[in-house]
Amino acid sequence: MSTIGQLYIVPTPIGNLADMTFRAVSVLTDVDLIAAEDTRHSQKLMQHYGIDTRLISLHDHNEGQRAQQLLEKLQQGSNIALISDAGTPLISDPGYGLVNVCRQAGVKVIPLPGACAAITALSAAGLATDRFKFEGFLPVKKLARTQALEVLALETATTVFYESPRRIADTVSLIVETLGQERPVVLAKELSKTFETFYSGSAGECLAWLLADDNHQRGEFVLLISGVKVDKSMVSNEALSLLKRLMQELPLKKAAAITAEQFGLKKNTLYQLGLTLPES
Ligand code: SAM
Repeated sequence: MSTIGQLYIVPTPIGNLADMTFRAVSVLTDVDLIAAEDTRHSQKLMQHYGIDTRLISLHDHNEGQRAQQLLEKLQQGSNIALISDAGTPLISDPGYGLVNVCRQAGVKVIPLPGACAAITALSAAGLATDRFKFEGFLPVKKLARTQALEVLALETATTVFYESPRRIADTVSLIVETLGQERPVVLAKELSKTFETFYSGSAGECLAWLLADDNHQRGEFVLLISGVKVDKSMVSNEALSLLKRLMQELPLKKAAAITAEQFGLKKNTLYQLGLTLPES
């Protein structure tokens, strides 16, 4: 039998303390050590569940060095759990460095399913979930933020962002500027907490809602942007088949332009349709 320890990735609640799984409590109770983003913050959760396992910090500023120390402990036989301040570790949270060194060293990494704000928001936002992109936090600098939003002009999948209350109104205002005020947006706020709110509407309506009351900007946010919809019924089978043939030889932009010209359609409609087609 192997004497090497195992690393458990353990999600914790994103607001409602009852959102711990039985398995999460039992793993945190049984391991030898818990690596936590902020040990003081996590103490509250430990007390709530009567867990007295020793905590050690692992955050953005010490992860490189800490990962090596934890790897040694695992190799000496300790079982370790990784938690973050809220939700699933590694999802816009520390832990990647540790998981990476463990995998490379052949240490078993066992993830527990559990709370994650992005997935919780997505499951109830009312936007398409067959394809979605998780983009974490937008860059802080305005130019980089603008560029990150501009690429969504033709995105057909739902895009999910995390956003801070300080920036939420600015970000939605930038969405209006870059993607137009009609783009459907959902603001998922304070998930699993007393004042949980979903506000959905056009980007313009979401901005007006945020600006209408300072309280609307308070709390934690997941911001979801709908993908662009393509009305396939506007495009005849002949146009579709030309587009497909041209796409085998030409870049999509060019193929869409030629087909649009030929059938008197909008280039953008054909471009978006092309994005949804398989490449071959
Ligand atoms: N690892 C976490 C997860 O699995 O969701 C995310 C950590 S990230 C540092 C924190 C961000 O997640 C917040 O700024 C907010 O955008 C989002 N978030 C976390 N809890 C939330 C909640 N209860 N309601 C809405 N958004 C939340």
